[in-house]
Amino acid sequence: MTRTTSQSTPAPQESENSDKLLSLDPRTGEVVGRYPVHGAEEVTDAVRRAREAGQWWAGLGFAGRKQRLDAWRRRLVRRLPELANLISTETGKPIDDARLELVLVVDHLHWAAHHAERVLRRRRVSPGLLMYNHAATLEYQPLGVVGVIGPWNYPAFTPMGSIAYALAAGNAVVFKPSEYTPGVGTWLADTFAEVVPEHPVFRVVTGYGETGAALCRSGVDKLAFTGSTATGKRVMAACAETLTPVLVECGGKDALIVDADADLEAAADAAVWGGMANAGQTCVGVERVYVVDAVADRFLDLVAQRARRLRAGGQDGADLGPITMPSQVDVIRGHIQAALDAGARAVVGGLDSVRAPYVEPVVLTDVPEDCAAVRDETFGPTITVNRVRDVAEALRLANGTRYGLAAAVFSRSRGEELARRLRAGMVSVNSVISFAAVPALPFGGVGDSGFGRIHGEDGLREFARPQAVTRRRFGALLEPMSFSRGTHTVRQLLRLVRLRYGR
Ligand code: NDP
Repeated sequence: MTRTTSQSTPAPQESENSDKLLSLDPRTGEVVGRYPVHGAEEVTDAVRRAREAGQWWAGLGFAGRKQRLDAWRRRLVRRLPELANLISTETGKPIDDARLELVLVVDHLHWAAHHAERVLRRRRVSPGLLMYNHAATLEYQPLGVVGVIGPWNYPAFTPMGSIAYALAAGNAVVFKPSEYTPGVGTWLADTFAEVVPEHPVFRVVTGYGETGAALCRSGVDKLAFTGSTATGKRVMAACAETLTPVLVECGGKDALIVDADADLEAAADAAVWGGMANAGQTCVGVERVYVVDAVADRFLDLVAQRARRLRAGGQDGADLGPITMPSQVDVIRGHIQAALDAGARAVVGGLDSVRAPYVEPVVLTDVPEDCAAVRDETFGPTITVNRVRDVAEALRLANGTRYGLAAAVFSRSRGEELARRLRAGMVSVNSVISFAAVPALPFGGVGDSGFGRIHGEDGLREFARPQAVTRRRFGALLEPMSFSRGTHTVRQLLRLVRLRYGR
C-alpha cells in the first residue's frame, strides 16, 4: 500500500520538491509511502498557520482541550491495530513491540490531558512576610507553537512525549518526524485533525535533516528534539541564532548493575530484554552490564541461555526486527570487531551475527573499558557484561560515561540506595525501563544525553512559561519602594529583617 500526505501536512502541490521522500519497509526494501520534502518556506508557513490555530486552541481552556484530547485518545485506541501495523512496516519491529509502544502512548496522552489543569492553572502562592499586603499568583501559560523533531526507533512514543504534553499545555505543534518514519507522524496528525477539524493545531512537515533545520529557524517558541547527541548539538546551534529555547533528549549508554544478592534469573531476563528488545534500538536500553564477581559466572550463563533463544528476522514470530537505519549496521559491526580485537570474549554470537539488515544477539564479556562497545552508543542487540569486585566499582564504571540517560540496579537489599548514587536521569530497581511507563515521572537525561524533561509535571511545565503576578491589596505600614518613603523606613525594615532572619 502506498500512502501520501493529507490534510494535516502542507498540501503536496505547495511543495517545491513534492513526493521525493520514500518510506521503505526495512525488511523488504519495498516502498510503503511517498511524502513531500518540505522546504524552509513551507515549514515557516506551517508554523505561521499553527500560530493562529494555537490561539484558538489556547482559548479552549483546559476543559475544552481535555475533551478534544480524550476524543483523540479514544480514536487512537480504536485504530490502534492500524497504527501498530504502520509502525511495524516503517521500522520493521515485531508487531507486538509496536502494540506495546502504543499502549504507552495512550497512557501518556490520558495523563497529560487529565493533569494539565492541576499542574498549570493559576494558583495563589504565599506573598511572604515582607510583601504581606500583596496577593501573589502563579500561572503557566502556553508558549505558542512548539516544534518537535523525532527519531525513528519509537516513532510514536518518543515524539508523543513532547506532542501530547505540549498540546495539553495549550500549544500548537509542528512535528518533523524522522525520514524513516514519515507515515507514523502523518498518521498521528491526521487522526488529530479528524477530532479537531477547525484549525491546524497539530501539523506535520516531512523531509530530511534540512526540513528539521528549517523548523529550528522557523520562529517556533520552543524546539523539542529527540535524536542523537551529534544532531542535538546542531539543533541547539541553529536555535541559538534566534534564542529559541530547546529541549534535547539524546542518546545513552545505559548500565545495569547486578549486586551479589540480586535475583539473578530476573536480572538476566531484564538484561536480555533491556539490551535486545527492538533489536537494541532503544535510547534507554541496556548497553552495559556490571556484575559483582561472586555471581558473575552464574549470571553470564543465564544471560547466554536467554539470548541464544532469540531470533532476528522479518517473519512472524521473530523476536528482533531489522536494524532500521542501514548505516547503523556498520557501527554495530565496528563495535563488536574492536572489542574482540582488544581481547573481549563473545559468549553469544560474534561478528557472524551481523547479517544486514538483521543482527542476531551478541553478548560480549571482559571488554576493555576504553572500547567503543563500552563507551559509545551501539544501538544494536549487543550487550557487554563485565565483572567487578563490588558495587562501588560498578557505580564508578557505570558513572564513567559522558552520557547520563538511564540505568538499572538489581539488588535485594539496597537497590534504591544504589540508584541514588547513579548519575542518570532515570533508574529502575529490579526491572528495566519501567520509568517510561509511569506518566507521572519525568523522562530525560544529563550530560551528552541532553537536558529538559518530557512526561509528568515537569514535562507539562517544559511547554509553558510561568507568569508571576502580584496585586497590591492595601497600603503597608512600611512602603520602601517609593521616593516618598519616610526617612526611617529602610532602617525599620532592616530591624524587622534582623529580628526575623538574623537569629
Ligand atoms: P538523528 O539525530 O539522526 O535524527 C533525529 C531527528 O533529527 C530526525 O528527525 C532527523 O531527520 C532530524 N535531523 C537530522 N539532522 C538535522 C538537523 N541538522 N537539524 C534538525 N533536525 C535534524 O537520530 P535518529 O533518528 O537516528 O535516532 C536515534 C537516536 O535517538 C539515538 O541516539 C537514540 O539514543 C536517540 N533517542 C533518544 C531518546 C531520548 O528520549 N533520550 C529516545 C529515542 C531515541 P532525518 O531522519 O530526516 O535525518
